[in-house]
Amino acid sequence: MTRNAHASSAESAPTRALATEAVHAGRDDLAELGLHAPPLDLSTTYPSRDARAEAARIDAFATTGVLPDGPPVYARLDNPTTGRFETALARLEGTDAAVAFASGMAALSAVLLARASQGLRHVVAVRPLYGCSDHLLNAGLLGTEVTWTDPAGVADAIRPDTGLVMVETPANPTLAEVDIRALAHSCGEVPLLVDNTFATPVLQRPAELGARIVLHSATKYLGGHGDVMGGVVACDEEFARTLRQVRFATGGVLHPLAGYLLLRGLSTLPVRVRAASATAADLVRRLAGDPRIARVHYPRIGGAMIAFEVYGDPHDVIGAVRLITPAVSLGSVDSLIQHPASISHRIVDPSDRRTGGISDRLLRMSVGLEDVEDLWRDLTQALSAGSATPSESRRSPERAARA
Ligand SMILES: *Cc1c(COP(=O)(O)O)cnc(C)c1O
Repeated sequence: MTRNAHASSAESAPTRALATEAVHAGRDDLAELGLHAPPLDLSTTYPSRDARAEAARIDAFATTGVLPDGPPVYARLDNPTTGRFETALARLEGTDAAVAFASGMAALSAVLLARASQGLRHVVAVRPLYGCSDHLLNAGLLGTEVTWTDPAGVADAIRPDTGLVMVETPANPTLAEVDIRALAHSCGEVPLLVDNTFATPVLQRPAELGARIVLHSATKYLGGHGDVMGGVVACDEEFARTLRQVRFATGGVLHPLAGYLLLRGLSTLPVRVRAASATAADLVRRLAGDPRIARVHYPRIGGAMIAFEVYGDPHDVIGAVRLITPAVSLGSVDSLIQHPASISHRIVDPSDRRTGGISDRLLRMSVGLEDVEDLWRDLTQALSAGSATPSESRRSPERAARA
């Protein structure tokens, strides 16, 4: 089974709705193979008695980044199980191709290296970004140079050596939104990368709005169960070829078992995201009317991520939840809560956190599939543990400052 075989059968299929793609994309050939569940291929290498033919296939891959026909040569080039996940994710995002990596950070690193290999090391980026993405750009670990700006400043920040414009929308952790279509217009010829981890293709398909590169931490909603780490870039075939060459040379490959679990995760993605989003919107309504809450953040496009600033001590809230898991990460079937200034965005300089609108009082919650009444009961008792209403925090300035 080659990549090309399942890609071409997907191409010949009529356009199908997202919910249908979620359960069928990347599996179109299974019935012909006499299978129902996708096969999991754990091979690291593939036997061949024809070394000349293998040499030709390796040459073809090295010069073009096009995956060879026939069995893979070695698992760092390609894996058929991971290939199914890539095919499916590309279908869901509406792009030609997708290239999977060991984590979201490996995916972003590959994008930056791909651009740098073309001499384009300058990146224009909008805060906030996920803490480690901010760090990777800002520390210049891969030789990138970054100009931080707001969406309105992007056009002016672009230079001749700009290889990428990067945004997250809704952004981690404030859920701030960017108008992708307007921003894509400001980018001109420079590719726009949208980190679509929070929205998922269920709520937003950035490629249809003009983004050339769509990135996911697949660790989050795509996997959906908190038990698999991965990253993926959805893009046109031309950029995918460069990414495959970077992945082959730098080795940030996704494990095939992770590819299997991510493909399985995609099949319930629409149902999970819609159900958790409805619960999140309900919790947002309750929090907005709660005197212990200074401000609630929730994007216009909806979603299962919520964020809120408390009057009291956010550490007390983290310490008091019982049903909700106090942990970083997001997008699992169960609800998680964390304090961005302490954890997910700890690595970002405090002044840069402030520029990104990340208050020390902000809590970020990933709403899962639990019953809304059970979640609210846990959240409201935890808020009481960290409770200070506006008048109390005025009476006790040290308590307010401690947060
Ligand atoms: C978690 C996350 C990442 C990094 O992904 P990993 O899979 O943890 O490497 C990138 N972007 C966003 C928005 C994230 O939430």
